[in-house]
Amino acid sequence: MAKVLIIGAGGVGQVVTHKCAQNPDVFTEIVLASRTEDKCRRIAAQIDRPIKTAQIDAANVPKLAALIEHEKPQLVINVALPYQDLTIMDACLETGVDYLDTANYEPPEHATFSYSWQWEYQDRFRERGLMALLGSGFDPGVTNVFTAYARRHHFDTIEELDIIDCNAGDHGKPFATNFNPEINIREVTQKGRYYDSGQWVETGPLEVSKDFDFPGGIGPRKIYLMYHEELESLVKHMPEICRARFWMTFSDNYLKHLEVLQNVGMTRIDPIDYHGVKIVPLQFLQAVLPDPASLGPHTKGKTCIGCVLQGTRDGRHRKYYVYNICDHQQAYQEVKSQAVSYTTGVPAMVGAMMMLTGTWRGEGVFNMEQLDPDPFMEALNKHGLPWHETFL
Ligand code: NDP
Repeated sequence: MAKVLIIGAGGVGQVVTHKCAQNPDVFTEIVLASRTEDKCRRIAAQIDRPIKTAQIDAANVPKLAALIEHEKPQLVINVALPYQDLTIMDACLETGVDYLDTANYEPPEHATFSYSWQWEYQDRFRERGLMALLGSGFDPGVTNVFTAYARRHHFDTIEELDIIDCNAGDHGKPFATNFNPEINIREVTQKGRYYDSGQWVETGPLEVSKDFDFPGGIGPRKIYLMYHEELESLVKHMPEICRARFWMTFSDNYLKHLEVLQNVGMTRIDPIDYHGVKIVPLQFLQAVLPDPASLGPHTKGKTCIGCVLQGTRDGRHRKYYVYNICDHQQAYQEVKSQAVSYTTGVPAMVGAMMMLTGTWRGEGVFNMEQLDPDPFMEALNKHGLPWHETFL
């Protein structure tokens, strides 16, 4: 049916390539391109369907546009880094191809992320008759769809939304991140922020915490309030939401190492002079930390990501929880990746499938909650991320 170009051969790119390859009716041809082509070849060798590979610097619009012109895909799936979002969108506009990503743009020189830069592409995508789907991972991504699904089926109005992300897995390393270390540490060390009655309220980084009892045998864990990008789009598209917060679990070990790394300056993102060479301490740190893609064989345990929603239905108050539990080892057995890459890569494939089959179609730039949640929810059950719902 369609040819896709996947950009980025990291942990998430590996899962997306496997999952697209598992669905040959939709993804008839797959090209995997990244900065280091060797990584693409390594992934292609795991799959018993031909996967074409290419070398590309996705920050270079003319070169990327030339690759797209040459390959003529119907869709570009961006699972490189948030820094490349705008250049990949530019190349898609230039070549007339639809676009999908899993993380919103952030400028390398500031640790801040926002949809504002990508929402500015709205008119250009609309005028070109193209679709850009933003944030088709798990959070953002499935969490937006969970919210839209809950709104449609279980609430007349949503008042409170708590998105809760737990990784109860253990990779056995003293310190490692489950997705790109630079992006992860930039996100975690930011100030917390949540939405309350029409305003954004700031907190210190990981200053607010509480206990949450997770299902699936995980049990009680401490969750920390953070700012996360789907809050921005959800309160825009569902203005009825009074309070929206995002929470994540961290092991004591992770927090201990992070504190030391921050204290000694290793998480700084401004370039410093080292023997006449400019280096960014956080980028140097990434070079010595374990590659998230290498954690798969060692990571045991589960992730549990979901949304707790409160609001009313037929004039009565309701509290509802919808979540997925994913097992690191099961993910590894299927696609040779741990569950954090798996829970991001599967929704990227499902989002691509929605677009390529015409199930989700529109002209312009879209966040996940703007589209019909039902077929996406059905596809999650079918493609490896079954979800559960309960009233609390
Ligand atoms: P990795 O660091 O493992 O992989 C990133 C890949 O992108 C690498 O192969 C890297 O190449 C490639 N890349 C980097 N810069 C360029 C460039 N200029 N041109 C071409 N390729 C480039 O990251 P992950 O796989 O863990 O994460 C991928 C994306 O998924 C990130 O944007 C992350 O924020 C997002 N994410 C989203 C989640 C969600 O739930 N929505 C959750 C987790 C991640 P090289 O190998 O040469 O370094």
